[in-house]
Amino acid sequence: MVIDVQDELLYTSQIKSAAVHLQRFLVCLFGILAYVDLVHFFYFESFSFAFNLWFISVSILLSIFWLLIKATIASPYNNTFNLDALCQFICLVLGCILDFGIFNLHHYVNIDTPNMTLNHLIILSGILIFSTSTISILYLSNRFRYFLFLFIPFITPCILYKFIFFTPLSTYYQFTFNFIFLFIIICAFIVHRYHTQLSLLSFKNNKFSLQETQLTQDKNQLGLNLKNAVEKSNQMQNELLLHNQLLEQKVKERTYDIKQINDRLENHQANLAFAHETAGINSWLWNIEKRSIEIFDTKSKILFNHISENEVQFESLIHPDDLDNYQKLMRQHLRGKTERFEARYRIKRDQQWCWIQDTGKVVARHPMSYKPLRMVGIHRDIQKEKTDQEQLKLAANVFEHVAEGVFVLDNNLCYLEVNPYFEKLTSYHQSDLLGKHLFDITVNTKKEILSQHFDVTKKLIADGEYDAELQIEFLTGKVLTLWVHINAVTDEKNKITNYIGIITDLTERKKQEQRVSYLENYDLLTDLPNRFYFNLQLHHYLTDPNDSIQNLAVIRINIDRFRSFNEFVSTQAGDILLQKTAQRLRHSCPDALLISYLNNDDFAIIYKYGQNKKNIQQIAKKILEAFESPFVIQNNEHFISTSIGIALYPEHGRQIDTLNSHAEQALAEAKSLGGNTAYFYTNKNTRLFHQGVNLEGDLRQALKNKELLVYYQPKICTKTEKVYGFEALIRWQHPKLGLLTPDIFLPIAEESSLITEIGRFVLFETCKQIRIWQDLNFDYLRISVNVVAQQIHRGELIHDIDQALELYNVSGDMLELEITESSLIAKSENVLTLLQQVKHRHISISLDDFGTGYSSLAYLINYPIDTLKIDKLFIAKIEQEKDQAIVSAIIAMGKAMGLSIVAEGVETIEQINFLKKHDCHILQGYYYSKPLTAQECIDYLSKFKLASVYRS
Ligand code: C2E
Ligand code: CA
Ligand code: CA
Repeated sequence: MVIDVQDELLYTSQIKSAAVHLQRFLVCLFGILAYVDLVHFFYFESFSFAFNLWFISVSILLSIFWLLIKATIASPYNNTFNLDALCQFICLVLGCILDFGIFNLHHYVNIDTPNMTLNHLIILSGILIFSTSTISILYLSNRFRYFLFLFIPFITPCILYKFIFFTPLSTYYQFTFNFIFLFIIICAFIVHRYHTQLSLLSFKNNKFSLQETQLTQDKNQLGLNLKNAVEKSNQMQNELLLHNQLLEQKVKERTYDIKQINDRLENHQANLAFAHETAGINSWLWNIEKRSIEIFDTKSKILFNHISENEVQFESLIHPDDLDNYQKLMRQHLRGKTERFEARYRIKRDQQWCWIQDTGKVVARHPMSYKPLRMVGIHRDIQKEKTDQEQLKLAANVFEHVAEGVFVLDNNLCYLEVNPYFEKLTSYHQSDLLGKHLFDITVNTKKEILSQHFDVTKKLIADGEYDAELQIEFLTGKVLTLWVHINAVTDEKNKITNYIGIITDLTERKKQEQRVSYLENYDLLTDLPNRFYFNLQLHHYLTDPNDSIQNLAVIRINIDRFRSFNEFVSTQAGDILLQKTAQRLRHSCPDALLISYLNNDDFAIIYKYGQNKKNIQQIAKKILEAFESPFVIQNNEHFISTSIGIALYPEHGRQIDTLNSHAEQALAEAKSLGGNTAYFYTNKNTRLFHQGVNLEGDLRQALKNKELLVYYQPKICTKTEKVYGFEALIRWQHPKLGLLTPDIFLPIAEESSLITEIGRFVLFETCKQIRIWQDLNFDYLRISVNVVAQQIHRGELIHDIDQALELYNVSGDMLELEITESSLIAKSENVLTLLQQVKHRHISISLDDFGTGYSSLAYLINYPIDTLKIDKLFIAKIEQEKDQAIVSAIIAMGKAMGLSIVAEGVETIEQINFLKKHDCHILQGYYYSKPLTAQECIDYLSKFKLASVYRS
């Protein structure tokens, strides 16, 4: 079939090619004919109608044939077979026409052209025949049939020449012609063969070329396809890459998310561990099946791991009192009766019972039997909670039952809560108070009260604390003296959140105090302030900077011969006399600052006077006059006189002690003048001054000139009859006046800083002496040094002491300081600090002249005093009943307070006996020895053996 198709294709191509060749043949033939015609025309110079007609007709025909072929080839309905038939037909027609042409040539042209010979004819014919034959071999032999259709009719006249023209052609021509014709046919045939082969080859070639084109097209197509495929593949690859990147991105995101989650998880875990740690939580796991208990600490470390046949081991850690409850609750939960197990019990940890809260839950049960298999839970340390709770309970209890009013305010000072005692005190019910301001419940009408409230609020806001005694009138009508203490409560940012107040009812105590104060400060018999109050007031007048007192008189009054009045009339009469004396003093001295009763028959008045001393003389006179009229006592008239001693401030002294002592000396002077007289203290200095001696100036020189000396007066222990120690006493070896006692020059020194310098001198001298005596093996001698208020307040004392002790290498317990009560009155805080510093150095402190000053118990309690030194005034009057009472009271009180008692000014054996009897064993006085020089002391010590009482 394929072969058929190919044959047909080959055939079609051959026919088409033959038709095209035929067209060219027609053109060539036209040329040959034209050439022959032209040869005929020009060579023979004749015109042949027949020949020209034939030529024109053939030319037309040739044109028609050419067009026909062209049309057929171009025709869409072209059929190869028709074309072939047409071509065959044309060839045949052409053969016939040419045949006719030969005939025409020979028959008619011959006639028309007279000079034409046969040879010409043959040549002409020959040209025509051979040219045509050659052309036809060239163009028609590819289709041999065409050649034959043309050639055979064409040569027929030549072959049949003799028959047609009836003239025989020479045999030579005939033969030549025949041979040529044969040769032409053979040639045509060979050419045809070549043509056939060529056309076959050409066809094949075409086919191959076609195939190649096809192949090239296919290849191109394939290339295109491949390109598309590559493009697609690239696109896909890109998409893949994109997908890959997206995937990678997704993976990265996921990884990041996972990391985040992981981090968060780790944080949560750390948080949880931290929460567990802070909350003191341990977790536990009880594998009931395997009978194992594990307790983990906050970091999941196993704290307790136990496997046993029962739970006894763990339960042995539980406090026996809590065990029953623990077991009961545990059983209930294991049986599924409770949702969870929860118990609080004590557990032994580090040998201590510790409260824990245990919470647990069964997490797995047997599916059939419902028996518990596993249980988990946590232990929380609630020890602190428990303690706090107990403390809170305690605090609440205290709040409820304390006998003090307690109230809680908010930060605007409004009541939040009060305790029952507060309600009882103020007669307000808690519900009436809530929300009210602190001062809404008090009377606030007076200006002073409002300003007081303002002060409280101001201080609370500024200091967060208020502490004071207030007299408060409540709206309920109650008036109370309260000690109010309010404290701010702050939060962690130091912001005030609440105030807590405590009120203590002082009303009763105040009344009591007033009573006691009266008893303390007043003498009941005379209704006059007593010695204590007198000294206090005198100190106040001398030291209070607000009191601009410039001149002051201390007037001492003593009833003459009172002792005999007492003895001869009666003590009751004596008491009445004292009362009446008090009355007369009041009447005669209405302007006095203070009139007081000291003791026995001693009175004292403090007077403020102007520049003129005479005023005081008049007052003294008035007092003496007041006693001129008789006293009617128990219906008897008694003539009584008084002695008056006067010391003036600042002329006769600036210190209380000096003023008192000088007034007393003046009194003694008045007495010695026979009584009923007033005597002004005569300063020996003044006297000396009048003699032309300037003591103050000399004293300054004395220090430099080493005229000051220290004497030592021994103190004897009566128990051991040995020397206990010494008191250092200053003396002045005056170049003109001889040895002066301190009462002459100390008042001058006290008015300047000289007193401190003298004090320092005595201190260093004393320490030096201690060192010397210790080196001489007189051990255990404690030496006391007198210290005045000025030294204490100046602030150099400690420094001096340290220096002296260090310089002479003396230990503090060898030293004693003698101070008077007047030193303790002012600046108590500083004084206390100083005395504590003294005590730190193991130096003992003695309260000098006890009994003459304030004799206040408060000093003994508040200050670190070791020794009381009873003043020589009391010792001197020891035979008097009242003074005996005072001395024995001082000794008893001092002993009760664990103090040593020293009596000074002991002069008689009676005094010693009395003191010994009353358990006072350390004595100092002229009875044993006057103050001695250091050298004399060594002789004295040799006589007495040393005592070491204070060590025992
Ligand atoms: P005081 O502290 O009361 O000293 C005791 C005084 O009583 C001494 O007087 C002493 O000689 C004297 N005395 C001792 N035994 C008897 C006795 O049996 N009968 C009598 N009538 N008197 C006796 P003195 O040495 O004249 O000292 C007088 C005051 O001078 C001392 O009284 C003391 O307050 C002060 N004083 C003495 N030395 C110093 C000192 O070094 N510094 C300071 N600041 N004051 C001193
Ligand atoms: Ca003394
Ligand atoms: Ca004394």
